[in-house]
Amino acid sequence: MDRSKTIIRTSFLGIGVNLVLVLFKMIVGLLSGSVAIILDAVNNLSDALSSAITILGAKLSARKPDKRHPYGYGRIEYLVSVVIAVIVLLAGVAAAKESVEKILHPSAAEYSTVMLLVIAVAVVVKYLFGRYVRSIGHRVQANSLVASGADAQNDALVSLGTLAGALVSIFLHWNIEGYIGLVIALLIIKSGVELLIEALDTVIGTRTDAELAGKIKQAIRSFEGVGDVFDLTLNYYGPTQIIGSAHIEVADTMDARQLHRLTRAISTRIFSEFGVILTVGIYARNDSSEPSASIRSTLEQICAQYPEVQQMHGFYCDEKEKHVMFDLIVSFGTDEKAIESKVVEMMKAAYPAYHFDPILDSDFSD
Ligand SMILES: [Zn+2]
Repeated sequence: MDRSKTIIRTSFLGIGVNLVLVLFKMIVGLLSGSVAIILDAVNNLSDALSSAITILGAKLSARKPDKRHPYGYGRIEYLVSVVIAVIVLLAGVAAAKESVEKILHPSAAEYSTVMLLVIAVAVVVKYLFGRYVRSIGHRVQANSLVASGADAQNDALVSLGTLAGALVSIFLHWNIEGYIGLVIALLIIKSGVELLIEALDTVIGTRTDAELAGKIKQAIRSFEGVGDVFDLTLNYYGPTQIIGSAHIEVADTMDARQLHRLTRAISTRIFSEFGVILTVGIYARNDSSEPSASIRSTLEQICAQYPEVQQMHGFYCDEKEKHVMFDLIVSFGTDEKAIESKVVEMMKAAYPAYHFDPILDSDFSD
């Protein structure tokens, strides 16, 4: 079954399970007069709503690319996660308000054995269901499902809290309903904030997943003729629509025909293996002869003096034009321009006849 169908089916199941829980908890909550249990039901209702929005998002984001949106609609999934986070947050704030009211004006709740049994069953159902949704989310790499699965498991704990509160009030005659409600509310708010931060992170654009970057680089390096690979970038237009680029280092004796074959083979394999549309750029390497070899080793020594310089690559020396090109990756949060000029200054002092032309690269991936 394809990814979006799995997400939709799991979410429909989520709506069903949560609505049944809402029904039973509402009945128990209203009959016993327990605000904690009513809030617990409201919490489950917001989960059902989240599932409904996840379905809508999966449907919208599965639409085919068109002229106006040639990168597809995959990023809708990120917006859906933001909306779900806001819903969870609002549910938490509403629950906190109710609970504070209950603390200020307490009224004792009355429970029957059947009611307690219903809550206990709800705890188990919600926990097992959360685990199931989470495992499916991991399998199809859907953040929305992983998040709602984790949320469901939290909710099981929350329900366990209401059960504990009920038992305390029955056996110890302490009315701690309002306080338990408040703890529940704070937990809901906390998970809402966490969901929101994660959702916004993906919208802003985060560092490439190190594992995926490593695998792609390894695959590219395995091609004959590729010396090394640099500057891997991956842009996400949704969880499954990824467009990127990479530079490969090759001998400067390769001709256009060979390069055409090589870059095409790399792009084809990276797409079939990882689903990534990759553009491959070329760095020629010619530092086996003098003076290129000694210029390169001098440059490497100078770069080693600056811990901020993470990498030097793309070295190419045009001996006829006395022109040296290279790329520097300088750590984020440092004065890259200053470090670049220091390196160039030192190189000029060592080789006054040469012109040095570096490019500052960004530290996109590990
Ligand atoms: Zn570069």
